[in-house]
Amino acid sequence: SDPIIIVGAGQAGQKAAETLRQKGYEGGLILIGDEPFFPYQRPPLSKAYLKGEMEEERLCLRPPAWFETAAVDFRKGVHVASIDPGPHAVQLEDGERLAYSKLLIATGTRARDLPIEGAHLPGVFTLRTMADVAPIRKALETVEDVAIVGGGYIGMEFAAVAAGFGKTVTVIEACSRILERSVAPEISGYLQELHRAHGVRLQLGTGVARIAGDTAAGGVVLASGETVPAGLVLIAVGAEPVTELVEAAGLKVARGIVVDEACRTSAPDIHAVGDCTVFPSARYGRMIRLESVQNACDQAKAAAAAMLGEDVCYDPVPWFWSDQYDVKLQIVGLSQGYDRTEIEGSPEEGSFALSYFAGDRLLAVDTVNAPRQHMMARKMLAASDSETTPKPARQAVA
Ligand code: FAD
Repeated sequence: SDPIIIVGAGQAGQKAAETLRQKGYEGGLILIGDEPFFPYQRPPLSKAYLKGEMEEERLCLRPPAWFETAAVDFRKGVHVASIDPGPHAVQLEDGERLAYSKLLIATGTRARDLPIEGAHLPGVFTLRTMADVAPIRKALETVEDVAIVGGGYIGMEFAAVAAGFGKTVTVIEACSRILERSVAPEISGYLQELHRAHGVRLQLGTGVARIAGDTAAGGVVLASGETVPAGLVLIAVGAEPVTELVEAAGLKVARGIVVDEACRTSAPDIHAVGDCTVFPSARYGRMIRLESVQNACDQAKAAAAAMLGEDVCYDPVPWFWSDQYDVKLQIVGLSQGYDRTEIEGSPEEGSFALSYFAGDRLLAVDTVNAPRQHMMARKMLAASDSETTPKPARQAVA
């Protein structure tokens, strides 16, 4: 019969291919990725790899030989141009047409563009792929002033690395604090102080008007009219799901590719996983989209099982991490809708846990340099099955 085809060879696509083989699937398996690399992990791109402390081979999820051993037909640097759900075929950009028995979409996200004047000048970057890193590193060798637009995880990790290189770093954030959408004010405040202590300037509650410069970036002009000088500008204003392929094929998309608890899209024999999907969470009582390694891997495992006919209900306890300087922030659960927090440990000594509650229900726990407490919170949250069975949460980070 026709092979299983996976479109997108990132963290999720690779994990799905591995899981299909682990589960004993012996049919044809084609993994198609449009980047010119073997599947790799992205987190180090704003951490160790950006710093130059990690080799390219270590970024890769599997050595090249793995693909032969596992009989995975990996198509490197090949873009899938369209999907034809009726006849079960995909059209590659190079003209080849491939029939599938089942199709898995794992197209991930792309860095969001900032629609302002100067955003495409040399010296202005986004950070999403391995190919993005080399020109950024080169710029860091010569440039003194660095400006970062967006105080999210990638922006703040980049700020930490640039400050570590001795650059003059300014972060410009439209909200009144960094990481506003994902963590409580206590965590934002802690990290803001950390960055300031490393000399990073934070322009909070500040809009950006344009990037200044004629032939290359010279600075960021703020809404106030003030100019932050910068020879390197990182635009880090979030990511958007890559959905145009499935949208053109008529599949359901709503701020992501809509899938059910078994990772099925609205078309027969097409599943989707990872950053590009929105899926129903009984745990949180809503459709959610996650951008994390946890979700890419766990949802890919679930999809592989579902594609092989297993009964699957994917409803994870999400977790995430971020490294800034020598601080490891770990997050488990989703804190949206919390009405109070409890802190345990000592921010002054640089190790603490912050628990988020809605009434008595523990929603999420953020830990700073407290990996044991993070693991305990993961177990706690996994044990409290759904909204209908809230667990007393006081012992969460005890
Ligand atoms: P991706 O990894 O984006 O892979 C999708 C792939 O599909 C891409 O290679 C894309 O080019 C390809 N593709 C798209 N369309 C087509 C097409 N038509 N044809 C062929 N190929 C196509 N998560 C954490 O949990 N912790 C972290 O600390 C962390 N740090 C991060 C730091 C950075 C700089 C970035 C960018 C991300 C970070 N993440 C982190 C997020 C994490 O990397 C993503 O959630 C994860 O990579 C998602 O995997 P994915 O397979 O869904 O998508």
